[in-house]
Amino acid sequence: MTSTAEYKELESKYYMQVVRRMPPVLVRGEGTKVIDNDGKEYLDFTAGWAVLNLGHSHPEVTRAIQEQAGKILQMSNLFYTVPQLPLAKVIVDNSAADRVFFCNSGAEANEGAAKLARKWGKLKLDGAFEIITTLDSFHGRTQAMMAATGQPAYQDNWRPLMPGFVNVPYNDLEAIKAAYTESTCAVLLEPIQGEGGVNMPDDGYLKAVMDFCHEKNILFMLDEVQTGMGRLGTLFGYQQFDGVEPDVMTLGKALGSGAPLGAFTCKEFCSVLEPGDHGSTFGGNALTTAAGAAAARVMVDEDIPAESLKASAHLVGRLTALKEKYDFIKEVRGMGLLIGMEMTRDIAGAAVAESLENGLLLNAVRPNTLRFMPPLTVTNEEIDQAVDILDAALAKASAE
Ligand SMILES: *Cc1c(COP(=O)(O)O)cnc(C)c1O
Repeated sequence: MTSTAEYKELESKYYMQVVRRMPPVLVRGEGTKVIDNDGKEYLDFTAGWAVLNLGHSHPEVTRAIQEQAGKILQMSNLFYTVPQLPLAKVIVDNSAADRVFFCNSGAEANEGAAKLARKWGKLKLDGAFEIITTLDSFHGRTQAMMAATGQPAYQDNWRPLMPGFVNVPYNDLEAIKAAYTESTCAVLLEPIQGEGGVNMPDDGYLKAVMDFCHEKNILFMLDEVQTGMGRLGTLFGYQQFDGVEPDVMTLGKALGSGAPLGAFTCKEFCSVLEPGDHGSTFGGNALTTAAGAAAARVMVDEDIPAESLKASAHLVGRLTALKEKYDFIKEVRGMGLLIGMEMTRDIAGAAVAESLENGLLLNAVRPNTLRFMPPLTVTNEEIDQAVDILDAALAKASAE
């Protein structure tokens, strides 16, 4: 057996050092639990980065992948791919979307959406090409999505950025109106900013932006890569907001339940991509869409998003109790099982490190903000265990 130290040596010698890894080498998972190479168990409140909404190794997803692997993995895009079709239907049947295109990641989904928006601009808006996005957003790490992502840390080393993106403050309709010109073809927003720190939209913001887009005949596009597939307590995040419906929606993360799968959708009126306009060798591959189709079926049949609201209420209740206990906790916010806890001190990293020691995987999304994104199947008992670990970690981190 390869030891944990040997894995770390292999990584430091052979792998590009683009991220500082957490200490454990995780090798197995089931539900909310993961196990490292030395047999230590953890509660995973990161869920493979909001990917494992059904938990690790969900039996239906595992079976679908195994069965599909024994049949056929890959066709050319010139041929029908069978598992794609039921998944596309589930998405369309349960959302405002009329059509779906599958790709391999969230960034690629947003790239596709941006291409669709530019085609819309070319056909309907006299060549308009500019897309308005927000500061503190996250849309991925491709050349175009770095320009869309309004955060200096994702942009500064790679200037000049791709033209055609304008970043304005989130929750500021007037800023969108001011940024709008005859060159604008779309607005792209996250319903809740995930990587930006679990930032909530103000009441009415999303609807007002949508109405403005429709007034100007530009596309209202929602990046649901993190908020989609039940994370906010409805299958798609926008369904939590009255009267809000995206013209274009992007998905990723939990869509494949761990298999690399992304998608962008559109309504029929803006279905402007034609044969030859877009494609992807692996996009919508039989294996990834088999996983996605199985996951979506479980999600819908078992009403997992709505069920997860009970766990959400329990988690928020426990975190709110911590807020009463520690005066440095400023705010508990979020929706469904995308929850942020902001503090007045930059101790999120220390709290994460201490929690890890005691068997809890958490994310410090900002130096002063913790993010909770467990599987939607997390139990109240697991939430209790996790919050107890966090409680002790905060006591220690705040004393240092
Ligand atoms: C994670 C994320 C992306 C990027 O997805 P990748 O699969 O890493 O390319 C895009 N948008 C949002 C909102 C995300 O959370």
